Amino acid sequence: MADCLFCKIITGNVPSEKVFETEKVLAFRDIRPQAPVHILIIPKEHIASAQQINASNSQAVADIAEVIPKIAEQEGISKQGYRIVTNIGFHGQQTVEHLHYHLLGGRQLGWPPG
Ligand code: AMP
Ligand code: ZN
Repeated sequence: MADCLFCKIITGNVPSEKVFETEKVLAFRDIRPQAPVHILIIPKEHIASAQQINASNSQAVADIAEVIPKIAEQEGISKQGYRIVTNIGFHGQQTVEHLHYHLLGGRQLGWPPG
């Protein structure tokens, strides 16, 4: 997708601080961190949001699920815990239309979210 910010991060046209990468998945630090650890995990395949997940592309979600524990371990937050969030659409306050999972941790998080 030519004008997708996260596709440009995947190709390297936009810089990012990468923390984990596989053939299918990229993880990099959020530019405006909301917690001591705030990482975005994205599929390399362009999928606009979790609302666009279907039987033909759901492997991307499994690929992301597989790397989450590894990243948490690498960041030293696997024992204390963390949160995975994906925002969808207007009410979800999604601002980048490429599927991404926020991994937030390193402090006590509040609940419920705003
Ligand atoms: P969302 O609001 O759920 O769509 O999340 C988008 C996230 O992308 C926000 O937390 C932004 O801070 C983050 N973000 C936007 N641009 C960049 C960038 N160039 N590098 C890293 N994170 C970014
Ligand atoms: Zn994209």
